[in-house]
Amino acid sequence: MNKSDTERMSGMLMSLGMEETDNEKEADLLIINTCSIRQLAEDKAFSKLGVWGKLKKARPEIKIGICGCVAQVKAKEIKKRAPYVDLIFGTHNIYELPKLVEELKNTDERIISVTNNPYVPESDYPINRAKSVNAWIPIMEGCNNFCTYCVVPFTRGRERSRRIEDIVKEAKKSLEQGYKEITLLGQNVDSYGKDFNDGQTTLANLLRELNKIEGKFRLRFVTSYPTDITDDLINAVKECDKVAKYFHIPMQSGNTEVLKAMNRRYTREQYGEIIKKLRKSYKEVSITSDFIAGFPGETEEQFNDTLSAIEKFELDYSNTAAYSPRPNTKAAKMTDLFLSEKVKSDRLFRLNECNKKAVMHSNQKCHNKIYEVLVEDIKTEDGERTLTARTEGNKIVHIKSDKNNIGDFLNVKITGSNVWCLFGEVV
Ligand code: SAH
Ligand code: SF4
Repeated sequence: MNKSDTERMSGMLMSLGMEETDNEKEADLLIINTCSIRQLAEDKAFSKLGVWGKLKKARPEIKIGICGCVAQVKAKEIKKRAPYVDLIFGTHNIYELPKLVEELKNTDERIISVTNNPYVPESDYPINRAKSVNAWIPIMEGCNNFCTYCVVPFTRGRERSRRIEDIVKEAKKSLEQGYKEITLLGQNVDSYGKDFNDGQTTLANLLRELNKIEGKFRLRFVTSYPTDITDDLINAVKECDKVAKYFHIPMQSGNTEVLKAMNRRYTREQYGEIIKKLRKSYKEVSITSDFIAGFPGETEEQFNDTLSAIEKFELDYSNTAAYSPRPNTKAAKMTDLFLSEKVKSDRLFRLNECNKKAVMHSNQKCHNKIYEVLVEDIKTEDGERTLTARTEGNKIVHIKSDKNNIGDFLNVKITGSNVWCLFGEVV
């Protein structure tokens, strides 16, 4: 979501006549788009601001800005802690950027624009997309769930969906520009359209509309909330040939009591039922997840349930993190239940080892099978050309080939794998 917001802000700045530079020392305007999902991300943002503060000492005429989730929840702290910052704007204010930059030119005052009234233009706005095969398209923003560990509802606000027509228009444009894959983004993507309350604006119907667009391309959507995956969505994914048979469905913990303390609205068993249903519905489907180790009060036994869930549900890959207390959240107030850093890092280590095993198992299941892959990158080493491509199930494949190029769809036979990737040959 942040990458996508950055592409949009970059597009707006370029439409004002600005140019991008890779060298921060020569920039006239520096803006950092921040993430606050965990403390580490926030610390990185402040450390980068510190580096830029030094640049400004040497070149006082440059302007420094900070936006995104940290700016949304910590504007006052940033104002005090980083006096060299000229512009602070929140996640709801990114489309004001052209106006804010104009104001910056005409004043020496610091500008702060952090509101709780999201404004999103309905139609065209310039986007400077990353040079890749994949176009990110946000279809909704915000979250109504309030999981007790999560800062997102505070940084991104409540759920707001974009209109199907606007998304289709943006998708068509990105395909015309040569993108071969579209990833639909939302913090809780299968709640898409609930705010329209018309029975028609649903993720399933959006996929059906996008699938009608002509040409060869692939569609994905992230992130799904386990109990919001409807039968209609499962059917739409089946019907639509362009939609990857791939679901990212974070479980967070394999233990029902911990899930309850996290305010997740499902049990271990219910999560298992959803996975079973998905595996039954498709010839092959890839399912990935997220897990948190060391939630306040988590016992060793409860943590072991997380390890066994990864194995039992044969998850293809999981993102993992140690619990990090976040501002405004309920779990951050459970201080007497906090686990020590040592316990958390030890559990995270074991979680990662368990995940690696699951990934190896999942990769080995691909051996000798043929998959359609999309080429994303090419590297040449010692005269040998290796393509990096991605399967429908979101697995990376390395392929030796002289003929093929970025953006090609290829049929590839999987000849081997390790924990990071698959190896294949063109058939
Ligand atoms: N909407 C998605 C998750 C979005 S946040 C869902 O409901 O599953 C992305 C991931 O960051 C989460 O899945 C969670 O695993 C992790 N995360 C969020 N808050 C965290 C925290 N306080 N500490 C550690 N990890 C966290
Ligand atoms: Fe955060 Fe996801 Fe829970 Fe929303 S559903 S509060 S984004 S973890």
